[in-house]
Amino acid sequence: MSLFVQKFGGTSVGSVERIQEVAKRIATSKDQGNDLVIVVSAMGKTTDQLSALAQQISSNPPQREMDMLLATGEQVSIALLSMALNELGVAAVSMTGSQVGIVTESLHGKARILEVRTERIKNRLNEGQVVVVAGFQGTSLSSGGTAEITTLGRGGSDTSAIALATALNAEACEIYTDVPGVLTADPRKVPDAQLMSSISCDEMLELASLGAAVLHPRAVEIARNYGVKLVVRSSWTDEPGTTLTSQSKRPLGREGLELGRPVDGLELVENQAVIGLSHIPDQPGVAADLFEQLSNGGINVDLIIQATHEGNSNDITFTTSQAELTTAEKLCSNLIARLGGKLRSQGEMTKLSISGAGIMGRPGIAATLFDTLSRAGINLRLIATSEVKVSCVIDSKLGAKALRAVSEAFELNDIQISINPQPITSSQPEVSGVALDADQAQFSVRNVPDKPGTAAALCSSLAEAGISLEAIVQSERQHEDGGRDISFTLKKEDKKLASIAIAPLLAMWPKSQLIEGPAITRVSAVGAGMPITIGTASRMFRALAEVGINIAMIATSEIRTSCVVAEEDGISALRAVHSYFELEKPQH
Ligand code: ADP
Ligand code: ASP
Ligand code: MG
Repeated sequence: MSLFVQKFGGTSVGSVERIQEVAKRIATSKDQGNDLVIVVSAMGKTTDQLSALAQQISSNPPQREMDMLLATGEQVSIALLSMALNELGVAAVSMTGSQVGIVTESLHGKARILEVRTERIKNRLNEGQVVVVAGFQGTSLSSGGTAEITTLGRGGSDTSAIALATALNAEACEIYTDVPGVLTADPRKVPDAQLMSSISCDEMLELASLGAAVLHPRAVEIARNYGVKLVVRSSWTDEPGTTLTSQSKRPLGREGLELGRPVDGLELVENQAVIGLSHIPDQPGVAADLFEQLSNGGINVDLIIQATHEGNSNDITFTTSQAELTTAEKLCSNLIARLGGKLRSQGEMTKLSISGAGIMGRPGIAATLFDTLSRAGINLRLIATSEVKVSCVIDSKLGAKALRAVSEAFELNDIQISINPQPITSSQPEVSGVALDADQAQFSVRNVPDKPGTAAALCSSLAEAGISLEAIVQSERQHEDGGRDISFTLKKEDKKLASIAIAPLLAMWPKSQLIEGPAITRVSAVGAGMPITIGTASRMFRALAEVGINIAMIATSEIRTSCVVAEEDGISALRAVHSYFELEKPQH
């Protein structure tokens, strides 16, 4: 007999009729001889409504009480669904997170799952019952030893489902929702978005964290780590939906289910060059022109970062291989001759990256990397972050020293370290999907000291306050006294906390100044084929230039390119990129 974990989202259980429909679906699956664990969300917009109630009473309610309140939403749906199943003659029992043994850390509001104690659930399954579990919630053993209700963070029912599937060694975890699966973009924003039949966990992790809310990123992280089959499909049809694929198959170990080793890879890529253009005009089409010329010249660009600075001019920095430096310099000089600006390039550079699915949502990891390098006296020429990877470019003379320091800091062994790995050349699409994240704010710290430790100090202060930086960009240009600017984006909700967290640093850097940028949104393209395709970034910039959209900030990692644009340009930017890469054509 096969065991499946099936999760039904809020819309799918949004009314009595829908609960009854879901119950029929479950009954059919049970009739086919499957063992079933069902995870449900709160009905419709219940969680939002409960939050709004709390806000009427307090603008800053205690997190413990918020968890107590929000967890009730899922309890309503499990009881109703269980009743509906029993009405159909299917033996079913509802259980809270605590009853099924979902044990979490004690942090309220965004607790991570430590383990799932499966005994009780297995007993019920052995009795032939369908177990209906409340998603989004768990239980912690607080310091005093008393159990407390915790929640996993908004959208967390997906994570409950995949955690149960992992712990129970289920055949698959199926996420039933109000769309046919994972599409090339959010169909609410891009009406001609197409269904993908499969997507790699790496790509999905990026998309989910860059605004594709169809899956909770932490659910993808678990699927990726433990190699559990994860499927997203429609609650209303029998179509197969989208299957997520993962290479890894880590056994469930002694470390916490969601708190395993966050960093499991260290990579050094030598013979890199960094080319920085500063003081170039801040207008649509400049990045597109530059990177088109480079790609026409056959140059494969790796990381790109760009931020706007005083006087409305831009700095763009990118990396390429040492072998391509001279040609790239020549092409950049042509552009500067036409548009103005300054060029500063540096060969003999090395890119050092740490990777691991657990980097996500743990800002302390990037901070530890930067801190380790700064203690070793190593200056960071460039930083690029993604959900699963943090890269920095350093002087190649310091490569060996950096490797030693970082492998010690993260306790990595030789198997986890790779030097100059060959890129994977299998045919993956350069862009699989696009996403829009409207939840971003942009800050710049002007005139910070240009010495080892500055970025580390900034990241550490934010990390200590629990804030993750989405992108961080150091300026190419220097102020008269040598200082540089650092720009970063973070979640809007963290804005206030960030200014407080940075204040002590600003006091230490007397010439520095914190500036909040205008309202922004971030549009991203993700594709596993990006590292081996020349010109993907230039095509994305061209797509935006063609519709007259100016790019305020660029940040790339290996498999994604993100552009920060003005808030009001978000939807048109998303649509422009989607159609430029012809994602409206049926996918395979
Ligand atoms: P549920 O309540 O079932 O968990 P969610 O609202 O959390 O549903 O997620 C489904 C929604 O995700 C869809 O209605 C869709 O608008 C949105 N979405 C965003 N990006 C994508 C994407 N790339 N593919 C599919 N849906 C997406
Ligand atoms: N009900 C919770 C929310 O709305 C959890 C979920 O639906 O996944 O965020
Ligand atoms: Mg959801």
